[in-house]
Amino acid sequence: MSRSRIVIVGAGFAGFQAARGLTRHRAMREEAEVVLINPTDYFLYLPLLPQVAAGILEPRRVAVSLQGALPGVRLVLGEVDHIDPQRRTVSFAGPEGDRGSMSYDRLLLTVGSVNKLLPIPGVAEHAHGFRGLPEALYLRDHMTRQMELAGGTDDPRECQARCTFVVVGAGYTGTEVAAQGKLYTDAMAGKHPVLRHRDRPRWLLLDIADRVLPELDPRLSRTADRVLRARGVEVRTGHSIKEATQEGVVLDTGESVPSRSLIWCVGVRPDPLVAAVGMPLERGRLVVGPDLVVPGHPGVYAAGDAAAVPDLTRPGSYTPMTAQHAARQGKVAARNIAASYGYGEARPYRHHDLGFLVDLGGVKAAANPLGVPLSGPTAGAVTRGYHLWALPGAHNRTKVAADWLLDAVLPRQAVQLGLVRSWAVPLDTAAPELPVRPSAAAGARPVGAGGGRHREAGGRQRRDDGTDPHHRKGDQSS
Ligand SMILES: Cc1cc2nc3c(=O)[nH]c(=O)nc-3n(C[C@H](O)[C@H](O)[C@H](O)COP(=O)(O)OP(=O)(O)OC[C@H]3O[C@@H](n4cnc5c(N)ncnc54)[C@H](O)[C@@H]3O)c2cc1C
Repeated sequence: MSRSRIVIVGAGFAGFQAARGLTRHRAMREEAEVVLINPTDYFLYLPLLPQVAAGILEPRRVAVSLQGALPGVRLVLGEVDHIDPQRRTVSFAGPEGDRGSMSYDRLLLTVGSVNKLLPIPGVAEHAHGFRGLPEALYLRDHMTRQMELAGGTDDPRECQARCTFVVVGAGYTGTEVAAQGKLYTDAMAGKHPVLRHRDRPRWLLLDIADRVLPELDPRLSRTADRVLRARGVEVRTGHSIKEATQEGVVLDTGESVPSRSLIWCVGVRPDPLVAAVGMPLERGRLVVGPDLVVPGHPGVYAAGDAAAVPDLTRPGSYTPMTAQHAARQGKVAARNIAASYGYGEARPYRHHDLGFLVDLGGVKAAANPLGVPLSGPTAGAVTRGYHLWALPGAHNRTKVAADWLLDAVLPRQAVQLGLVRSWAVPLDTAAPELPVRPSAAAGARPVGAGGGRHREAGGRQRRDDGTDPHHRKGDQSS
């Protein structure tokens, strides 16, 4: 008799833990083949991405090899773009333009989320998000380049614009990016023969909410606000931008801020794939029961950012989009899938938040593990300790610890490799994990994927001469 097949789509926090749970179950290994379909061959530990952008960590430190960490799993590189629940098949685009499909007996959708867009003029063309490794690598190079160009120009207005960075969205992503970015650019300016005699780089952090980290404990907001302001970040709560142009942004107060850098961290929305499967949604997330099964579709499960999982600890609401929930939901999904084969008992997903950790760069952080508010170096140590514990893979952990050690004793390498260009990381993409391939003809596609999950931001296309028509004035990135 042929083995049953469990297909997991997406190897993020939820998918990775589900695959691990299923293949650790000896009886399940014999009963069913576990297939993991993902566009990259690694699991990305997103919480440390701001440290990649700031040059503290090399990118592979936060990329955990799926084959190495999940030996019993069959990895299929690809992006699923069609699911047929009647025939029980998934179709996907492979990394070299090839297509494939396979049948499943159980399906787990864990495709995560993508950058959220807001209808603000110019944002799609001029902002970059922060949801994947390509965007982090782009930002690292971009910050470095802006500082180098600022130091090389005789025009004081251009110098000021290049030394001004605008972050919209003061959730944990925007707060960490601004906190780390300010330290990085300050350090670059401090060593520059010209820039060190000028004003320090200007960082603005905007949010329409009345405090930074609006979704977290107010005590964390106060700590983060204090640290950011002391560092010189202009925290503008209660405000956003009303327009982005090549020259900079216009705030909702009418103030113009000349800048070449707009970093868009207003949040995420579920991966558009879940809308395409034709099952009920809640704010774009696939509705599931507390057992993570899609109602009316036995054998189809969903978890993580892409799933609207009832929060049994807060009746009437859904679990927030965090790694903490996604990873635990992945484990519960594995357990419940095993139970559907007769191994163990299914159980509903229930988890009380254990607190949050926000890395503010240097030795600082704002944290409330188990509800205990921490700040300063204590919070910094707890935050780093937690990340080392939570990051899968002993090799990755060791290398992260080594990078932290080196960063403490050596200056950061402020060099740009220019491998990820501005046009390769548009804000409007359904595949933030892959850079876009230059293609003027058929619309751009993510490199390494044959699929059409990517949409060009505002119809952006690369010219045949290699330049980007929406290229920022003076931006040498594309
Ligand atoms: C910069 C940053 C920092 C963060 N920090 C924290 C933090 O400190 N604490 C916290 O709790 N949360 C944090 N989060 C949020 C957390 O990372 C997410 O909630 C979590 O990653 C969600 O897990 P997931 O498994 O649902 O999705 P993901 O981890 O995003 O994984 C989704 C996977 O699906 C793949 N995929 C997508 N579409 C397809 C497709 N069509 N076919 C095949 N595969 C597909 C993707 O490539 C990816 O591998 C942070 C997020 C960001 C962006």
